[in-house]
Amino acid sequence: MKLDVSSELSSIKGIGEKTKQNFNLFGIFNVMDLLLHFPRSYENISKPKQISEAVDNEKILIHVQVIDICRDVRTQNNKVITTIVFSDGETEFKAKWFNQPYMKNKFEIDKEITLLGMVKLYRNEKILSNPVEVIKESISSKKINSIYPLRSGITNGIISKSINTILETTIIAENLPKWLIDKYKLCSLNDAIKDIHNPTSSAGLIAAKRRLKFQELFTYSLKVLMLKDYINKDNNGISFFIAKEMQELKENLPFLLTGAQSRVVREILLDQKKKVSMNRLVQGDVGSGKTMVAIISMFNVVKNGYQAALMAPTEILAFQHLEEVTKVLKNFDLRIAILSGSLTAKEKKLVKERLKLGEIDILIGTHAMLEDNVEFSNLGMVVTDEQHRFGVMQRSKLFNKGNNVDILVMTATPIPRTLALYLYGDLEVSIIDELPPGRQKIDTSYINKNQKSKAYLFALEEIRKGHQVYIVCPLVEESEELSITSVEENYKVLKEEYFKDYTVEILHGKMPPKVKNDIMNRFKAEEIKVLISTTVIEVGVNVPNASLMIIENAERFGLAQLHQLRGRVGRGSSKSYCILLADIKSTVTKKRMEIMQKSNDGFYISEEDLKIRGSGEIFGYRQSGEDGFILSDIVQDVNILKIANQEAKALLKSNLQEDIRVKDEIMNKIQRSSKYICFN
Ligand code: ADP
Ligand code: MG
Repeated sequence: MKLDVSSELSSIKGIGEKTKQNFNLFGIFNVMDLLLHFPRSYENISKPKQISEAVDNEKILIHVQVIDICRDVRTQNNKVITTIVFSDGETEFKAKWFNQPYMKNKFEIDKEITLLGMVKLYRNEKILSNPVEVIKESISSKKINSIYPLRSGITNGIISKSINTILETTIIAENLPKWLIDKYKLCSLNDAIKDIHNPTSSAGLIAAKRRLKFQELFTYSLKVLMLKDYINKDNNGISFFIAKEMQELKENLPFLLTGAQSRVVREILLDQKKKVSMNRLVQGDVGSGKTMVAIISMFNVVKNGYQAALMAPTEILAFQHLEEVTKVLKNFDLRIAILSGSLTAKEKKLVKERLKLGEIDILIGTHAMLEDNVEFSNLGMVVTDEQHRFGVMQRSKLFNKGNNVDILVMTATPIPRTLALYLYGDLEVSIIDELPPGRQKIDTSYINKNQKSKAYLFALEEIRKGHQVYIVCPLVEESEELSITSVEENYKVLKEEYFKDYTVEILHGKMPPKVKNDIMNRFKAEEIKVLISTTVIEVGVNVPNASLMIIENAERFGLAQLHQLRGRVGRGSSKSYCILLADIKSTVTKKRMEIMQKSNDGFYISEEDLKIRGSGEIFGYRQSGEDGFILSDIVQDVNILKIANQEAKALLKSNLQEDIRVKDEIMNKIQRSSKYICFN
């Protein structure tokens, strides 16, 4: 059967209902999604071995038969160990998985399979640690095995098999103009996709990655440039005059604006007055008061008779914005509403109706407001609080919800100038480079992880003084389940050993929004003393009584992200602290921790980090597809980005028949996808 990239997964041979559902949970719905699920690493192992030939810590490929599936065991520190007995025809041995209990459902007794895993000597017995299944077909024909990011219910074998089935019957059509391919000696799209999944040589793999990164950054650039063109095409922006109530608002604010805030507000009001749509980025360190700037500019738009929308990256933040906006504007009789995932269907429906009728002045929400059925009556301005995402797609979607609306993007991640030009080529930039008065430096220190207890004892002291504490654990990209378990495990240990007498709660992204909000509210109300969480609290959360943040595995975070996290404390009047628990094995880690200890300046920190590492490190671990980039690292690949940007400009100017066709095709495709690599 011939497969189309938009074919559903169930049309792939070997994918049944259950597997399909598991793929769906992973965000993989059709053939294209699967083809864009690239390996996270490659193993260079060709010949299968017997376990008797392997040594401790050796990674081997081994043909086995399933002998027995044992009962899971829970260790003292609450890890689940799954054990399966295999035979390699000569020796029976055990394979063990840690915290992957679903593994035992993947194997049937007597079945023959091939595994790739690390041999470990454990109490004088050789075991295979956390092996993955690889498919036989791929072993004989090639030397490099692809290892995919996994999640419950999906094994490496299933992914490889499904992708190979697709690749055997599909030829991916070229979608870049020939002159561009020739000029940069790019390999064909078909070869690139095939090679990234099944590389036959490292040269082939490098060529594939180069082509796909180019593809990604080229499409991204096209989109940014087209959005800019589109916005500036006719000078038909709405002209918002400075509302007469503005003076009254200023007198009503709970504090004086900082000099930087006033300057940025002025820049925005000037833009708003123009007959051209505003398209502005506000960069400002954590705590610099970006929300207030957004509130003032939305107020102006509303007083001109239009609606304004504020989109936050998380539910928690949206509710917090709602609270602040409502408080600041309470004397002005505005109709403010929220639209987010946690509302009931009925509530959502009501908000949408009122919005369409013009009965809401300011809508605050999450990406739920991007949905097609959210219609405004007369949208005048959109503010997106986007932290470290480069949401061109979202911007254009929101832009299209009104007629030539003004756009304001707020970000706390200082983007180095050179990059800002390519990444935000469509935006003017304002910078809030001043913190509100009275903010104190957060006293930051780092401790090697084997001395953790010092940090927790210090936390106890802070709690006894009446303060509250955040403990942040990183999200591990490969397995969300794993990181949630790590948060949960950490909770048990900490609660028992240190915080018996206090209320401790967990917060992570997989919780239902209602539960999350409830926990945040209890933390705000000082009912919860210690909040153990993943990075969901990263953005904007404001609890002035929290005076200490402990960050576990700090070496895994990007520095900009650490800085943003740390900005959750130091919001009240008492001295605040941040303790970084790090596994300091290299001088680079040590250096990075020292930068954090030394500086409280987000711009300085990101510049320094940039000197040591790529953007993946600066912005922190990416959740796949979060910013739309699958392969590219905007810092490490800045040279490709530069060229891609230049060529995207050339393509947009070109009148060649082929170029116009290519451009239309690409744009057509990405309208419907959240990724920048798309094809037919
Ligand atoms: P961010 O830029 O990180 O989004 P926020 O807008 O959340 O920062 O502001 C952080 C805190 O500072 C909030 O509690 C806000 O009310 C307060 N704030 C903002 N501007 C000022 C100011 N000019 N003077 C004093 N406090 C301010
Ligand atoms: Mg903010």
